[in-house]
Amino acid sequence: NRSLAEVDPEIHAAVGAELRRQETTLEMIASENFAPLAVMQAQGSVLTNKYAEGYPGRRYYGGCEHVDVVERLAIDRVKDLFGATFANVQPHSGAQANAAAMAALLQPGDTILGLDLAHGGHLTHGMRLNFSGLLYDVAAYHVREDDHRVDMAEVERLAHERRPKVIVAGWSAYPRHLDFAEFRRIADEVGAYLMVDMAHFAGLVAAGLHPSPVPHAHVVTTTTHKTLGGPRGGVILSAEDDPALRKKLNSAVFPGQQGGPLEHVIAAKAVAFKLAATEAFRDRQERTLLGAQLLADRLVAQDSRAAGIGVVSGGTDVHLVLVDLRHSELDGKQAEDRLHAAGITVNRNAVPFDPRPPMVSSGIRIGTPALATRGFGADEFAEVADVIATALRPDTGDPAITALRERVAALAARFPLYPALEEGAR
Ligand code: PLP
Repeated sequence: NRSLAEVDPEIHAAVGAELRRQETTLEMIASENFAPLAVMQAQGSVLTNKYAEGYPGRRYYGGCEHVDVVERLAIDRVKDLFGATFANVQPHSGAQANAAAMAALLQPGDTILGLDLAHGGHLTHGMRLNFSGLLYDVAAYHVREDDHRVDMAEVERLAHERRPKVIVAGWSAYPRHLDFAEFRRIADEVGAYLMVDMAHFAGLVAAGLHPSPVPHAHVVTTTTHKTLGGPRGGVILSAEDDPALRKKLNSAVFPGQQGGPLEHVIAAKAVAFKLAATEAFRDRQERTLLGAQLLADRLVAQDSRAAGIGVVSGGTDVHLVLVDLRHSELDGKQAEDRLHAAGITVNRNAVPFDPRPPMVSSGIRIGTPALATRGFGADEFAEVADVIATALRPDTGDPAITALRERVAALAARFPLYPALEEGAR
């Protein structure tokens, strides 16, 4: 049993380089976070060796007594965390959680109604090339042009016109709360299931800082690695008193979509759910929201507005800010590159009613979860907001970017990322 460094120096070197990149730059991709060491230890454990097709107590393989303990803990903890009465913790990813949930609720050819990708929806909510767009008939709702809020009148109109079997509420790039009760009212009106994909804001929900979709939706899906801060993976939840629905959800995951569950990842999910119930986690989510607020405030200040910068919907209620560059000389790609040069990692993103093509786009999505995990508070987020606002001014040249890079490096150096990792892993 030789170490990674001995067996595979190339991979070891790339992992070390990635650790240094994560440590020395500021990670502001809204869907990313830093998994705690305990989560990574669970994920890197001997559980990776075990086949466990089936569910706790009903496996198709022997020797599952310990992974049953692990999976039951994960299920119980996530149900407690979100007030659900059903949980399936086996989906390998958010996309697979959505694929399984839809397979449980729909037949191929049935209609789904989801938020348009170009207005903040996710690929799995009906994009043409995704399984959701290939298997199902897709209707899409949008945000309003004047205030960038989801147009619930359009949702209701399309629900009556298109008679979807599933209405999907949830987003990848939308800075405001959704009205889950109103979504459910509309779903009930047309006899549709309401499925909420809370992948982005699950950590805020767990901390009680965002309305919970769980009491309103028939089915809730999430990832475990975004605001929730766990390992990469997916979960399906429900609070509906409907045994037939639970059975369908379980069999849609296994044997419907997957074979053996990743018990090492399920163990890491269990650890993350335990941590998400703590006061320290709540504090982290509060700083996440504060950071996004400070950033939005800075980007709607006079000097930013003068540079053609705006913020989609005028602000944020969540962990991300969508910067609107439709009136800026810089496009999304150029803005992403500028921030990268300054040591800040973000992704370009289309904004609603974007005149530029998606590969360029007129927006960037900036999130605060990873920096909040790193320990950032009000002062650090104010400093980052100022760096970003300066970098995005069209007149900021290369020497100024170099100076910003130094401010970023100094901030990063104050918050060591994985101090407990051995030197050998670096
Ligand atoms: N759902 C939403 C709303 C997302 O934003 C994402 C990921 O970005 C997913 C699902 C898919 O998660 P994964 O990348 O784990 O498949």
